[in-house]
Amino acid sequence: MIQLEHIHRYFQVGEQSIHALNDINLTIKQGEYVSIMGPSGSGKSTLLNVIALLDQPSSGRYLLNDQDVTQLNDEQLARVRRENIGFVFQFFHLIPRLSAAENIEMPMVLAGIAAKERKQRVAEVLKAVSLADRADHRPDQLSGGQMQRVAIARAMIMRPGLLLADEPTGNLDSQSGREIIELLESLNQQQDMTLLMITHDKSIGQRAERCIRIIDGQVS
Ligand code: ADP
Ligand code: MG
Repeated sequence: MIQLEHIHRYFQVGEQSIHALNDINLTIKQGEYVSIMGPSGSGKSTLLNVIALLDQPSSGRYLLNDQDVTQLNDEQLARVRRENIGFVFQFFHLIPRLSAAENIEMPMVLAGIAAKERKQRVAEVLKAVSLADRADHRPDQLSGGQMQRVAIARAMIMRPGLLLADEPTGNLDSQSGREIIELLESLNQQQDMTLLMITHDKSIGQRAERCIRIIDGQVS
């Protein structure tokens, strides 16, 4: 499903050029569970952002479901992202003024799905993340673990084939973190969602079927 060929990403900061990704070659199949580990600053987030189509590589080829996505314009990228990719962040990135249900509903609003179907799917997903009784709570009325479950519900509401998570437990206590990992793993297993997760935590990283180590922008 994911095929990266000779991916490079340079960042230009003033006079300095940072080689954040240095010749990444990587293949990930549909349904795989892969963790990404490596020191801070090694390029993990940059790699995940490229895979998420949130960032463009400086060079190299990226095939997503056999389509070369390095050739697409912004509108096409947005569409491929919306239809194929869910993303979960360390700091949740929920919209503060919206309720849990409204946050989860947002991708379907953007995709033009009818209100009736939206309500039904939000109710299903809220149940799946055990938050049926928190539908009307705003993010500031939820715990960290609950906010992350809302974020996961939002990421999966469009039923993407690929779920990406950048240190999803990095801001949680260990108990909530464990619950989040188990939720992500159950989505991977039950719905055949490919799961690609960055983590600092060795015990979490080792749970994946495959662990990729990134050092200085390279797969080691
Ligand atoms: P990690 O997630 O492994 O901690 P990152 O992928 O965030 O690392 O960063 C890799 C390198 O690229 C770092 O040296 C970082 O400073 C640099 N970098 C990341 N994003 C940017 C950016 N938008 N502009 C300039 N440099 C960046
Ligand atoms: Mg990072």
